[in-house]
Amino acid sequence: MSEERYLITINELEEMFQKLSKEYHVVAPTSKNGVIVFDFIEKFDQIKLDYIRTILTLKKFLFPNKEKLFEFQYEKKYVKVREENPSRKYAFFLIHPCDVNALKILDRILNDKYIDEYYFRRRRESLIITLECIKGDEYCFCESMGTDEPWKNSFDVLLHPLNEKEFLAIPGSAKGFKILRDMRLKKTDLKKKRRRKNTLKISIEKIKRIKNNVENQSWIEEANKCISCGACTVVCPTCICFGVRDLFKEPLRSGYRFREWNSCIYSEFTRIAGNIVFRKEKVNRFKHRFYHKFVFIKERYDVYGCVGCGRCIAECINKINIVEVINKIA
Ligand code: SF4
Ligand code: SF4
Repeated sequence: MSEERYLITINELEEMFQKLSKEYHVVAPTSKNGVIVFDFIEKFDQIKLDYIRTILTLKKFLFPNKEKLFEFQYEKKYVKVREENPSRKYAFFLIHPCDVNALKILDRILNDKYIDEYYFRRRRESLIITLECIKGDEYCFCESMGTDEPWKNSFDVLLHPLNEKEFLAIPGSAKGFKILRDMRLKKTDLKKKRRRKNTLKISIEKIKRIKNNVENQSWIEEANKCISCGACTVVCPTCICFGVRDLFKEPLRSGYRFREWNSCIYSEFTRIAGNIVFRKEKVNRFKHRFYHKFVFIKERYDVYGCVGCGRCIAECINKINIVEVINKIA
């Protein structure tokens, strides 16, 4: 793909937004009730360009918290199934690299032995305009996780802020190239500005060491601060544990199947038939979250299950800091 760089002004960015709105459901960061969220945008001036992070991530659009999968109907000896068709064309507009890279992680996890078509029908249709984040805050550790820049093949257009009114625009796909070319933007040799360094850091060596620290006593101390509310998993862009249930209509010959988000931090998550809960102790659930992200996902998909977005720290009622926990354990 071309390494060409274009200069795009804020007015031209608005023009891009208007064009995309004709073809896509445009989702961008906006302020709602005093907090920053990703939401559908009708007017360009609703967009918060200088945001740091939203509360929920793009998974709420691509992997909704509750989703009907199909309806079923018993007919004599057979069951007739009518699948929902959740396809929708999204343009994810001005998304920071950590969140864009998180989608690449989901792509790997959801395209394993079984392909999650509910996710991919929406994902394949979606367009990504990423906006590099040059500031961050005390909870970001994207640099440590290698997610401060968008990974290869993760975006259609990359925007890099030069100042409040101008951006570099770099195409990352044929679709992105066409968008920029059709806008007849000027080419430029301007370079990217340096981003402010993260103050929160974790070394990959430390992350690797948690594997051999399962019995470390600090797990108990840290888990004691946790109230198992699940906020950290709800806000995480890569946490996608879910439960599946059937709802029957009387006289129990038809119904529908749906799935909804769940969390490994809840004791109910591991309750199985016979009323057995196999991860009853809070410390084991607390540890599992770390081991899943930093050991199991890495071993299976060759990528860490964390992009250092800082949401789990920002939204934790007790400010349990995933980086500080690892630094203490390892
Ligand atoms: S948000 Fe904090 S308190 Fe709640 S489950 Fe996660 S770590 Fe525990
Ligand atoms: S574990 Fe925390 S920092 Fe890592 S991706 Fe999830 S919410 Fe972001």
